[in-house]
Amino acid sequence: MAIRHDQGIVLRSFPFGEADKVVVLLSPNNGKLRTVAKGIRKTKSRFGGRLETFSHVDLVLYEGRNLDTITQVEMIEAFHSLRADLDRVVTAGAMVEVADAVAQENETSVRLFLLLQRGLKSLDAGPAHPDLISSFLLKAADTIGVAPALDRCAGCGRADGLHRFSFPAGGALCDRCRTPGAYALRDGLTDYLAVLAAADLGDLPGPDESFSGEARGVARRFIEYHLERQIQSLAVLDV
Ligand SMILES: [Zn+2]
Repeated sequence: MAIRHDQGIVLRSFPFGEADKVVVLLSPNNGKLRTVAKGIRKTKSRFGGRLETFSHVDLVLYEGRNLDTITQVEMIEAFHSLRADLDRVVTAGAMVEVADAVAQENETSVRLFLLLQRGLKSLDAGPAHPDLISSFLLKAADTIGVAPALDRCAGCGRADGLHRFSFPAGGALCDRCRTPGAYALRDGLTDYLAVLAAADLGDLPGPDESFSGEARGVARRFIEYHLERQIQSLAVLDV
């Protein structure tokens, strides 16, 4: 058995045995990590509050057959500010739930890790931008290779007359390629989504409230379709 170093953002944790917890993290180098924090539920745990959800921590791990055991934790970034505001906690919760659904174990996840870190930093800096979660969802889809076609037709590649959107076809469709069941889009919505997919999470353009709600709905349903599961925290956000 070996000792190794890693780092990660805590995605969730749950009780294990009498005093322990399983802590699930996203590591840039190793993807989803399932670890055990022994004695963490005792009053005088040596881990303190350093393994709360959203925390970015540096770890020393003792490798086990199934789960690695955390022997030391140091806080890299706690994201204290976002924790003080319910709206931001709910948005951050949706981000970690998506990252948890997308991440694989034993797989380099640098892009997904940096996306989650950027999202949490944005939330820590101030109130959530109305389009933050939509942009995050579109970028998360890109990290798993299913970025929706937004500025061209997913069927034929043409760039004009994109009035429909199809989850199975992979994005916007022109009138010639439209398939039964393709979703009708308002003029301008694909352009709006394309801007959100390309923008920096920390520097999103001013929101257009007439598009924000619909953009969230499309981004959510798109990623849920490709993940083949619902993201419960997004329902809380009333997307
Ligand atoms: Zn087409």
